[in-house]
This record gives sequence, C-alpha cells and structure tokens, in this order.
Amino acid sequence: MIAILLGPPGAGKGTQAKRLAQKMQALHLSSGDLLRAEKAAGTELGKQAAGYMDRGELVPDSLIIEMMVGKMTQAKSILLDGFPRTLAQAEALDVGLTKHGLKIHRIINIDVPDVEVERRMTGRRSCAACGAVYHVDFAPPKTAGKCDKDGLDLVQRNDDKPEVVRKRLITYHQQTQPLVDYYSKHGLLKDVDGTQSPEKVETKVEAALA
Ligand SMILES: [Zn+2]
Repeated sequence: MIAILLGPPGAGKGTQAKRLAQKMQALHLSSGDLLRAEKAAGTELGKQAAGYMDRGELVPDSLIIEMMVGKMTQAKSILLDGFPRTLAQAEALDVGLTKHGLKIHRIINIDVPDVEVERRMTGRRSCAACGAVYHVDFAPPKTAGKCDKDGLDLVQRNDDKPEVVRKRLITYHQQTQPLVDYYSKHGLLKDVDGTQSPEKVETKVEAALA
C-alpha cells in the first residue's frame, strides 16, 4: 500500500505519518529525510543530490522521485508526507511508480482552516537556550514570555511570524489545490478534519487508510 498525507504547514502530518507508520509497520518517507539519508550513505543518487545541495541549488524532482521509487520497491507499505508538493511532482511520481508496476492507493488530505493554522503557528514560542517549546494558548509557560526551566526570555521563530505564516499559506494553496484536484479526479482523495486532537485525527486517518 502506498499512501500520501497532504495538509498545510502546522497540520501535524509529519507527526501523524511517523506514528501511523510505526503502528502499520509501514515505511515513512519524507523527501528531506530521504535526501539526508542517501547523502549520508554515499549512494550514487545521494552523491548527485549532494552536488546540487552544495551548489545551493534545488535537487531536481526527477532525482528525488528516483530515490523515492527505489525505496518504495523495497517496502510493502509506504506513508509519504511532504511530497509531492506540486502537480508536476505528482505526475512525475505516477510515471516513476508505473514503471515499477506500483501505484498510489490513497491520499489523505488533513484539512485545517487557515485561521487555525495561523493560530497554531503564530502562538508558538521557544527558548533559545534550552530549546523548550511553548504555545501561548495550548501550552503556555507558567510566567508569560519566560521559560519554565531556566526563566529565560521566550522568542518567536521567524517561520512563525504572522506575515511569514500567511505567505507560506498562500504558497501552499497555490501549489496544493492543483494536487488536490488531480488526486480527486483519480478518486484517491479522502478529507480528514484536522482541527481535532492529534489522537482523534490519527484515528480518522487510520480509518481513511483502511
Ligand atoms: Zn529554557
């Protein structure tokens, strides 16, 4: 079985994919982890990818897909998250899978409205000293703006600033809507309400995969 988790930043798809992969004894593949692993292992594809990364260039889709499909031929169940991100990648992935007689069985779209994504991300605060992470609404520190462990000032990461989050959401919708349409057309897509607790979302994703 090959399944893909889609969802906006902050939807928790990485966490969900990791937990579900363990439960289902599936291989969890994310393009970032895969690139790092192949590079570290010094495989031929890893060396090619490292060349692009060292030059500060994007690793071409074709190379990432070749790596992914290679892994997919070795596992029975695969959960992908964070890839494909664009329609071009989705189409190229289908071509690569078909070559090996493989196909995608299910796409789960973890649906979280923009306002909720903004609330989740812009509320995050972290301690630069010890790395502890808080949230102004969901996991507030005992004293506002101070780390529970060392009393130091909490900061908001650049990625979590409102204007950055809004930009990421705009990019996400521009790239993902064509993907959602593509997979809907193929009858593979199931929406899951991502606004509930991680445990409830996990149960729903699991049911949608069955
Ligand atoms: Zn701290």
